[in-house]
Amino acid sequence: MDLMSGRGAAPPDDENRADRANHKDKEVELDRLKEEALSCKRCSLRQGCLQVVFGVGNPGARIMLVGEGPGGDEDRQGIPFVGRAGQLLNRILEAAGINRDDVYITNIVKCRPPGNRLPVQSEIDACLPHLQKQIALIDPEIIICLGSLSTKTLIDKNASITRTRGNWRTIGGRRYMATFHPAALLRDPGKKKYVWEDFKEVMKEYHKPDNGGSAHE
Ligand code: URA
Repeated sequence: MDLMSGRGAAPPDDENRADRANHKDKEVELDRLKEEALSCKRCSLRQGCLQVVFGVGNPGARIMLVGEGPGGDEDRQGIPFVGRAGQLLNRILEAAGINRDDVYITNIVKCRPPGNRLPVQSEIDACLPHLQKQIALIDPEIIICLGSLSTKTLIDKNASITRTRGNWRTIGGRRYMATFHPAALLRDPGKKKYVWEDFKEVMKEYHKPDNGGSAHE
């Protein structure tokens, strides 16, 4: 910083104020995007679900986690990943030293597909603009794709989760990590070790001091 002219880095108080204002702006804009999603009629999923499960977390998150779509518990509560898979996700985040309140969690589709079936391509395509706007606004450094559908939608439509997981991909300046969906771990606990390897990669990136992490975290 140039002390004589006052140019350069802003003093810490001003920086904090600017950060808070930026955070508030993002919160307001995210609420607006949520309203947009609540009134969305781009596909028929909304007719069969209780509510739109938009997303939850920190509007300034450095990490965004993207699952498939809401299940029954999520549809009832309006919050992503609150059922059994969500509880397992919470334990994974905790073990990785990542606070659930610091990240942002959402899904590829915001409305529960009937009978928990996978969303079809037309539903994914119809819903994607909501996610794209969430990503653009929150601007996370790291996106964790939970499961095959999220990986195919966000990383590569031909990707196999088994081959893609564990490897960083950089797309549009953002780092993407694919890993198995927590529900897959409930069905096959043998996959847990791979998810743990993937989260160790995420932890390295997240806690890197030059990426905004602290060497002491
Ligand atoms: N599975 C998902 O993919 N998303 C949720 O929100 C819950 C379960």
